[in-house]
Amino acid sequence: MKIAIASGKGGTGKTFVATNLFYVAVKNGRNVTLADCDAEEPNVEGFLQGKPIRKKTVSQNLAVIDPEKCVYCGKCRDWCIYNAIICLEEQQKIYLLEDLCHDCGACLVACKFDAISETERRLGTVTTSVIEEDSVLTEARADVGIYSSVPVIKAALTASGTPSLLLMDAPPGISCPFITTVAPADFVVLVTEPTPFGLNDLKLSVETLEQLGKPYGVVVNRDGLGDHKVYDWLEEKNIPLLMKIPFDREIARIYSQSLLVAAEDDSYAKQFLLLLQKIEALCKN
Ligand code: SF4
Ligand code: SF4
Repeated sequence: MKIAIASGKGGTGKTFVATNLFYVAVKNGRNVTLADCDAEEPNVEGFLQGKPIRKKTVSQNLAVIDPEKCVYCGKCRDWCIYNAIICLEEQQKIYLLEDLCHDCGACLVACKFDAISETERRLGTVTTSVIEEDSVLTEARADVGIYSSVPVIKAALTASGTPSLLLMDAPPGISCPFITTVAPADFVVLVTEPTPFGLNDLKLSVETLEQLGKPYGVVVNRDGLGDHKVYDWLEEKNIPLLMKIPFDREIARIYSQSLLVAAEDDSYAKQFLLLLQKIEALCKN
């Protein structure tokens, strides 16, 4: 079973939920992998302190155009569906927009003048760490300044293999990195907070998941902080409210010390186990 933990915006507590779910799954003897897919700012490792066993570099091929050989026919530009090539026939100029190159290779096939070759560009790393026997963390970490973290996230998901339970800590937002992470999920847990911003971003996430046809439920973090509008909206839309986590100074203290509340407080261990069981039951329905 694959469960993505996501949120429309950063800072709502999705890593908090993902790491505590992972903890209770491990303690209950599950074969579980947690994939940290928040490739631009991965932080799960700080809570789990695993033993790294593998680090893989993720790279892509990038087209390189040789202006000495190019006759400015424009064929490579016409074949590039990502609009990564600008060819100005009259001015005898050609440019490659590196960030738009998706390593599809079409321009190499198109060019009959041997003017295009490839070079390798590094995008990031995927690190695999053992947490306990049968439990693994895979971390996607994109290099600073790359245009898209999607290839790094895909590599982390591939490295995660097929455990009996895969938890995926999704990047915030609803753009391509989010969609790449939730695409393989059987269920998506949306973490929000009871504030106007939380509700606004929750609505955007729900709209996206509806379009993708993904089953989902909501965890409200920092319950008691804002107002009741999130709960009213969930009820109106008949969206499952999976768990409420109180706005609590003690939880904040534990989290700020990079500890897990389920490990520190048995009542939370029970609540997160219940959350896991609820999700599994919803998946079976
Ligand atoms: S297809 Fe080859 S020759 Fe034609 S514009 Fe592209 S690089 Fe130049
Ligand atoms: S490899 Fe593909 S995406 Fe990149 S420039 Fe060539 S045709 Fe465009």
